[in-house]
Amino acid sequence: MEVSFSKEIELLKLGGGQTFHGEGILAVTKALLQSGVTYVGGYQGAPVSHLLDVMVQAKELMGELGVHVEACTNEAAAAAMLGASIMYPVRGAVTWKSIVGTNVASDALSNLSSPGVIGGALIVVGEDYGEGASVIQERTHAFAMKSAMWLVDPRPSLPNIVRMVEKGFELSEASNAPVIMELRIRACHVHGSFEAKTNRAAPISARQLQEEPAAFLYDRLAHPPVTFKHEKLKYDVRMPAARKFIADNGLNEFFDGPAKDIGIIVQGGLYNGLIRALQELGLADAFGETQIPVFVLNVVYPLVPDEIVKFAAGRKAIMIVEEGQPEFIEHEIGTLLRRADINTAIHGKDMLPMAGEYTSEVMLGGLTKLLAKYAPGEAQKKGEAYEQQIVQLRQQAVAKFAAPLPPRPPGFCIGCPERPVFAALKLAQQDIGKVHISTDIGCHALATFEPFSFGNSILGYGMSLASGAGVASFSARRPVAIMGDGGFWHNGLLSGVSSAMLNERDRVLVIMKNGYTSATGTQDVISTPGPVSRQIAEGASATGTEQTIESTLRGMGVKWLRTVHTYRVTDMRAALKEAITTKTEGLKVIVAEGECQLERQRRIRPLRAKQLSEGKRVVRTRYGVDEDTCTGDHSCIRLSGCPTLTVKTATDPLKTDPVAHVTNGCVGCGLCGENAHAATLCPSFYRADIVSNPNALERGLAKLRRAVTRAG
Ligand code: SF4
Ligand code: SF4
Repeated sequence: MEVSFSKEIELLKLGGGQTFHGEGILAVTKALLQSGVTYVGGYQGAPVSHLLDVMVQAKELMGELGVHVEACTNEAAAAAMLGASIMYPVRGAVTWKSIVGTNVASDALSNLSSPGVIGGALIVVGEDYGEGASVIQERTHAFAMKSAMWLVDPRPSLPNIVRMVEKGFELSEASNAPVIMELRIRACHVHGSFEAKTNRAAPISARQLQEEPAAFLYDRLAHPPVTFKHEKLKYDVRMPAARKFIADNGLNEFFDGPAKDIGIIVQGGLYNGLIRALQELGLADAFGETQIPVFVLNVVYPLVPDEIVKFAAGRKAIMIVEEGQPEFIEHEIGTLLRRADINTAIHGKDMLPMAGEYTSEVMLGGLTKLLAKYAPGEAQKKGEAYEQQIVQLRQQAVAKFAAPLPPRPPGFCIGCPERPVFAALKLAQQDIGKVHISTDIGCHALATFEPFSFGNSILGYGMSLASGAGVASFSARRPVAIMGDGGFWHNGLLSGVSSAMLNERDRVLVIMKNGYTSATGTQDVISTPGPVSRQIAEGASATGTEQTIESTLRGMGVKWLRTVHTYRVTDMRAALKEAITTKTEGLKVIVAEGECQLERQRRIRPLRAKQLSEGKRVVRTRYGVDEDTCTGDHSCIRLSGCPTLTVKTATDPLKTDPVAHVTNGCVGCGLCGENAHAATLCPSFYRADIVSNPNALERGLAKLRRAVTRAG
């Protein structure tokens, strides 16, 4: 990974009394160190990647504190790490993106929560839900309930987030249960400050070793018959202990206001949006002074019945602001109030939408309905006017355009090594017909958009080969599974390759070997070229490993294996055709080799800038289109989709169609040339080498060429 977190690491070193200024997710990282963690692990994913990325780079600081940091190969491995806290009084934290990561981790989480923990165990999940999300729209809440793990959803303010991390460990220890902290995208990226505390080194750590392992204790194994006892412990002992701790420590917050008849109960993570909505209605100020009392659930599971009853009793109605479906909190509050014989009306999903992100605009709509029923007046009118205004603004915006705007889906980066593979697949299908394509999670999923529109299914990270198993049985042509190297090491090796080998399946797998788990921020995988080579180059003995995908596949018995450079479109097309049509049975794997362009550019740009500043000769390659020969049929664009290969108005008045054009963003990956050759496109593409600080011979030649051109 070429991104540097040196500034963030300095913030992690802050001591008592100093002020931390920064992002929410980094505040969580700092809070872990202030809490005396012994170990941290995780699997990267939005919006919590930085937690682990920063810690992985902060080797020196972690070494001083004796904190063990592990970049786990998947979320199941991360969850299993928390097993250290079952038998030892050590605090540990792991992180991943939810809901997908929690699905992967759920086996280990069940087996962790059954025996429970004695050392604080905190799971920080990125609750990637809503309009900006990139995963299935489900809630971590369901996992917390099914496994009896407590769920913290902090009000997004840095001092509160930090407090909830610290209290999260204490809650876990007081109730012997793991605690999940869910952080929405907005909470991860909220900026603010808090007064730092000095980092704490744990009493048991990589620097303070345990002489002896823990004693054997069958009661603490997730294994029947003690699991029956665990079930009773969860609800007879751990949950009451958790409720007592939450109430005693005031983890949930009450913001009073003059309104007596109505009140709002909100998930902590939604608080800022709610205050913004109340502000629009004239019912709150920017500092959170509210006219309607608000009860903020920093802990959304378990609820503390007394707190809910106390807040609801005596009011005509309360509104539960709970994002996502189904309405777990609303159901629970309904039960709690019925049991306490409280007749306060409960509103929530009847006035707010069941699905989708609760932006302040959405919340404003729900609040307006609540006001109309219980407190009609100025604020309600303001809400209705606001909603009307939004509708009008949308209509005006639509009216400005003659036709609906075309969708603008995301695409591969400029020069991405994966784009040529899909160009080759397009060409191969022109020759042999369409095949079923199982796609996967990762950058290559961008090929599901135009101009490729590839993919018949996506079933999960590293699952493409496995997801084609059923289809293969009834398909005349061999299905093709696409997988990234990140997905291969995460899950694909076992669930896909191993299964195909066991069942001797006749399948085709394309592995995008770009060197990183690129879509999550270009973190290293076991086959990333670098660490070992770097150590050897620096004269140190190699401590890491650089396992290749190819040697792993060979070791598993894969016989038909080709490594093809992604930018060689003709070779890739031939390899794909052969894999799909060969009479050779068994699994056929094409390893598509080409480094992630994003990482490559991050590495090259500073080097190039340094060479230029030193007056050294630097050559940059670019491609271009000769508009005199461009026919304007745009078949090159349909084969590429590179954002720098676009169109422009032709200068020739006889050409009515726009011509193809390469902008200055071209990184000279070479795909344009390869496509022109492989698909026998028109000869309008040219390659130009731009030489900075040319030598004397080049200057002379340039002069000569200019003179000849002028004379012509
Ligand atoms: S991050 Fe790398 S692999 Fe992903 S789209 Fe960009 S260049 Fe391609
Ligand atoms: S050579 Fe073509 S595909 Fe590659 S970066 Fe330039 S315009 Fe894009």
